Amino acid sequence: MNTEQDLWGGMPYYPISQFYKNRFGEKIWKVPVSFAATCPNREGIRGMKTCNFCDVWGSAAYPEHRELELREQMDTTIATIKKRYKANKYLVYFQAYTNTFEKTEKLRSAFEMAVQHKDVVGFVIGTRPDCISGAVLNLWKEYSEKYFVSIELGVQSFNEDHLIWMRRGHTAQKSIDAVNKIKSFCPDIDLGIHLMFGSPGETEDEIIEWAKQTNKLPIDNVKLHNIHVLKNTPLEKDFNRGEYMPLSREQYAKRVSLFLKYLKPGISVHRLTAVASRHDELVAPLWAANKMESYQYVLDYLKNNSINQGMSI
Ligand code: SF4
Repeated sequence: MNTEQDLWGGMPYYPISQFYKNRFGEKIWKVPVSFAATCPNREGIRGMKTCNFCDVWGSAAYPEHRELELREQMDTTIATIKKRYKANKYLVYFQAYTNTFEKTEKLRSAFEMAVQHKDVVGFVIGTRPDCISGAVLNLWKEYSEKYFVSIELGVQSFNEDHLIWMRRGHTAQKSIDAVNKIKSFCPDIDLGIHLMFGSPGETEDEIIEWAKQTNKLPIDNVKLHNIHVLKNTPLEKDFNRGEYMPLSREQYAKRVSLFLKYLKPGISVHRLTAVASRHDELVAPLWAANKMESYQYVLDYLKNNSINQGMSI
């Protein structure tokens, strides 16, 4: 076994779970909490509209916890994970909506509450590239010098046409600028980007270009999503009119493997597929309903085709 595969836990790519294990010496569990209540798109800032794929929950893993206080959400989810998996250490994940679209003092008190928990080793913040003020950067810098702080930026695509189709309201250049700004101002931050595969007109060559673009950025990890159609989203209307067709599982697996072949070996990968958190809201593709089956399919695709992360660089 070579050094990279040791670091990757014997996998053909560098899973983020293995990155956490290398860094903290044990398995780390993410505790998703609902903190932000909205985002610039939903508020119509600068005339923006809700992203075409986003449902009313704004990516919340446990929307039923939305009304609970932050401390209660943390305690409830930690207790469940601890009991089910005998978990010990956690990262609080500010996941739903845009977690920088709040007053700085409110953000500070949320971060403080997270790090005060005895079993929490840090926190992860999901946000968008065009919602990062100087005050937010200062706060991130302060906390990242003392704790493990990870930022997940919703970049989604490096293709401007795809970003317009998604109704993101920001450009690819805005994402690139945000990544560079965050890392130069907060060098201790663990920085990741989200990318979505399956926009209309997307090509396999383009996926390779995205991997090359990703390699140029000062980031630590990437999260890959297959675009799926959820109920009560703008994308559902497109799908019902026959104007959008999601990728098949095989097409998606091929895109992931192409991306990984050209991705630098040191960049860890959150997951290989996205699933709908609420299965009753999934419209298409139906293969996205089963997390483990989809993951295994992509993993088998990599293994059966002898593909390793970074092999084509
Ligand atoms: S994906 Fe994020 S930015 Fe877009 S509408 Fe949903 S919560 Fe808002």
